[in-house]
Amino acid sequence: MLFKILVVEDEDAIRGMLMVVLQQAGFDVKAAADAEKAQKCLEQEMPDLILLDWMLPGISGVEWARRLKKETAYMELPIILLTARGEEEDKVRGLEIGADDYMTKPFSPKELVARIRAVLRRSGKNADAVQIAVGDMVLDTDQHKLSIGNQLLDVSPTEFRLMQFFLTHPDKVYSRTQLLDQVWGRSVYIEERTVDVHIRRLRKILGEYGREDWVQTVRGFGYRFSVLN
Ligand code: CA
Repeated sequence: MLFKILVVEDEDAIRGMLMVVLQQAGFDVKAAADAEKAQKCLEQEMPDLILLDWMLPGISGVEWARRLKKETAYMELPIILLTARGEEEDKVRGLEIGADDYMTKPFSPKELVARIRAVLRRSGKNADAVQIAVGDMVLDTDQHKLSIGNQLLDVSPTEFRLMQFFLTHPDKVYSRTQLLDQVWGRSVYIEERTVDVHIRRLRKILGEYGREDWVQTVRGFGYRFSVLN
């Protein structure tokens, strides 16, 4: 599985160095020189992790991270803050706004890659975990296959992503807007009832196996996936 990293760093030399290091470590790397450009990158393609310089011209890295962590679409996107300042107070502030890790420049490329892998693992993006199993349902993110027992389910790519989201976020209620943000992404405009259409189709497919109650309607709020009764 190829992980996408978005590097946000205004100093050309450091940005270039980070790109080389991360590409050599096997990551798919995109880079931006400031928060505005990084925001555009995000809207085009969702990365698996952001490596974010604290001091940026315009909106600072820490301020942008704080904003992202407040938005449903991005709150679970891991962020590692980079800073030239090593004060404990900064570290605390960085972690308080929701950054997943914090690194002080200069750091070794090896340590950076190790920290990135650790954060990806913690956020459930384990490179080895291509299969997610709940009950007798298995979702294979590598082969894009969803099955119950050994029966392959006939789901569309959107329904596959919706199931992937549900399986990795079980037992919690999500509104239609939250599901649109998480599964369809923010850059596309889609009506909320599209969610209902896909949910209905998923239920019908699950119903063939007697599992239609795994996708539950929470009246007035949205939907929940749960194999518990
Ligand atoms: Ca900087």
